[in-house]
Amino acid sequence: MQLPHRRFNPLRREWVLVSPQRTQRPWQGEVGQSSGFSGVHYDPQCYLCPGNTRAGGRVTPKYESVYVFDNDFAALLPEGGGLERGDAPELLRAERERGRCRVLCFHPDHSLTLARMQAPEIRKVVDAWTEEYRALGAEGFRYVQIFENRGAMMGASNPHPHGQIWATEHVPDEPRKETEALGEYRERRGSCLLCDYQRLEARERVRVVEENEGFLTIVPWWAVWPFETLVIAKRHVRSFEEFGDAERDALAEMLKKVTTRYDNLFETSFPYTMGFHQAPTDGGAHEEWHFHAHFYPPLLRSATVRKYMVGFELLGMPQRDITPETAAERLQGVAGGHFLDL
Ligand SMILES: [Zn+2]
Ligand SMILES: [Zn+2]
Ligand SMILES: [Zn+2]
Repeated sequence: MQLPHRRFNPLRREWVLVSPQRTQRPWQGEVGQSSGFSGVHYDPQCYLCPGNTRAGGRVTPKYESVYVFDNDFAALLPEGGGLERGDAPELLRAERERGRCRVLCFHPDHSLTLARMQAPEIRKVVDAWTEEYRALGAEGFRYVQIFENRGAMMGASNPHPHGQIWATEHVPDEPRKETEALGEYRERRGSCLLCDYQRLEARERVRVVEENEGFLTIVPWWAVWPFETLVIAKRHVRSFEEFGDAERDALAEMLKKVTTRYDNLFETSFPYTMGFHQAPTDGGAHEEWHFHAHFYPPLLRSATVRKYMVGFELLGMPQRDITPETAAERLQGVAGGHFLDL
């Protein structure tokens, strides 16, 4: 295991290069700024804080739990139009892309993060995600991508606890690749890739980070980011809409536990991109789909040293130094659900 090898990601049907012998190399790269906690509960300059005016003159109301609105600077627009090129379809293709970009404030308190919110408060966020998935799917969009960018290192423009929901006319490439892989596996094996995979991980245990009644969190065998995790629903559930009450609570609890472990690992407010993958809302039955969440955190060896995707990774394939097993061991070694006080 300590020599270079490559591992297969069956969800994307791509490989990752693992170079564990390289963890010994001296570090002379960039040392960034650690992202500390903000003690500011209300920031008069923050457009997501209750009662403040946003650019364009709209006012964020004095909300008390969650608040959803259309992004004032949306990357997608609901109206038709856009560039279409059908005259040279081989090499200069373009298609219209209609969509909606929504912003979901998780909590009115500016200083909080998912890790620092209480599980019943996160449960309200889970309920809002469920409703957005349902409503945007019913509007005719074929995919609803729910995600959170946490921390300036991930390009989050505002520390206020919030996430985004982008609904699109076409299924984007990442969930499209997974739809194809899950479908192909189901056809070939007669079972579900993620049902089979989580059974295997639950048996081996080495990569398991957290587990509760509803969800299993692991550092996947094929993780690309140093501390990447995969949160898998234990039941074969296609989307948010199929969760019962207890599973919604279990998801809220799981998100709190995973994010707290991350924060405790380097004693910092851990940056990440987190998002849910679930069945497209394109009218298909999608029996192959199995609900899961990806956490893609950039940090490598401390609160300030991050991994970059450059060089061979841009031109060849992704590469990692510490093994997924070592990453899981590090995450297992810190507390989940409560803080070492930071
Ligand atoms: Zn705020
Ligand atoms: Zn399944
Ligand atoms: Zn996925």
